[in-house]
Amino acid sequence: MYHLVRNGIRAFARNWAQKPTPFYLRYRITDRCNARCKMCNFWRESPHKELKTEQVKETLNILSRMGVGSAVFLGGEPLLRADLVEILAHAKEKCNMTCGFATNGFFLAEKAPELRPYVSLIAVSLDSTIPEEHNSIRGVKIFDQAIQGIQAARQQGIPITINQCVFKNTLSQMERLADLARLLGCTFSAFPVIKASRPEVGDLCQIDDEFLDMDQWYKVSMNLKKTHSNFIITKDMLNWVYAGGFASPSSIRCRTASTCICLNCEGNIELPCIRFPKLRIPYTDLERAWNSPTVREIQKKCGFYKLCQDCLMNCHYEASFLFHPGKQIEYMVKLLNQIRNQKH
Ligand code: SF4
Ligand code: SF4
Repeated sequence: MYHLVRNGIRAFARNWAQKPTPFYLRYRITDRCNARCKMCNFWRESPHKELKTEQVKETLNILSRMGVGSAVFLGGEPLLRADLVEILAHAKEKCNMTCGFATNGFFLAEKAPELRPYVSLIAVSLDSTIPEEHNSIRGVKIFDQAIQGIQAARQQGIPITINQCVFKNTLSQMERLADLARLLGCTFSAFPVIKASRPEVGDLCQIDDEFLDMDQWYKVSMNLKKTHSNFIITKDMLNWVYAGGFASPSSIRCRTASTCICLNCEGNIELPCIRFPKLRIPYTDLERAWNSPTVREIQKKCGFYKLCQDCLMNCHYEASFLFHPGKQIEYMVKLLNQIRNQKH
């Protein structure tokens, strides 16, 4: 945890001094997934090739040298990689990174004991307290396994956040899921499923009639903030999403290209972000390319591209709030408390 704070301060100082320094890694470590979620395109496409274990370790070594102190592993389903524990161990023990990953929970129960020493936080998707409803959104029978996975991880003392993707018809589940999360000793967050376009693959989500009324989501969220201390989304972030994210005229500016490394499973860094990969740099070339005029130009334009005008990529919130110390401090305090309170 010390390294996370130290690297955060270092990145903050260097980025203010106009020397872009990556602070954290978002690594889509596999495209493979055992679920068939209706809001997702990954399982509809052929999975891309993945880096081998040794290549992943080499990538982490490079990123560590560049200052990255925090790593989030994403998918697909990260637990489908048989070497995930080995990779997390390398990230934590050799690279001093604070690690977490996002999962649908299906394989979590069996892996929880091995994961315990290496993860600071796991985000588990749960969209409804009604098993059939969750299974229908996720396209497979997965509710029972997700609950068992959460329980097993909590027994190991691993901090868990339950993440809900909120649809119009599951808005009423927000409070019930916050209750369930509290009962299971977890924090809770709930973001609306939104239409997110990506030029290369078309819309990530094709189900317009199931999108959510943002007014309702905001109202329920603000109420949850009063009643559920385990609801992790800060007021700043709620207001940011409600106002239209990076699209809002009063918004903070997106700084993803300067502070965050978005790595795809083939080992390419996507700049400025995964939504809008204008440039892909092989990980082997990253240290040399990072200070090149091409990358500097993308970092300068990050947040000002045409596509940025309708962007609600809340996963890039932290990277951009690095430039707004007040907001960042509130978020970090909340995150650190969450991790500390949930650890045995
Ligand atoms: S669990 Fe995640 S990656 Fe897998 S299909 Fe669902 S949304 Fe996509
Ligand atoms: S605003 Fe959105 S689309 Fe633009 S660079 Fe940031 S994350 Fe990417």
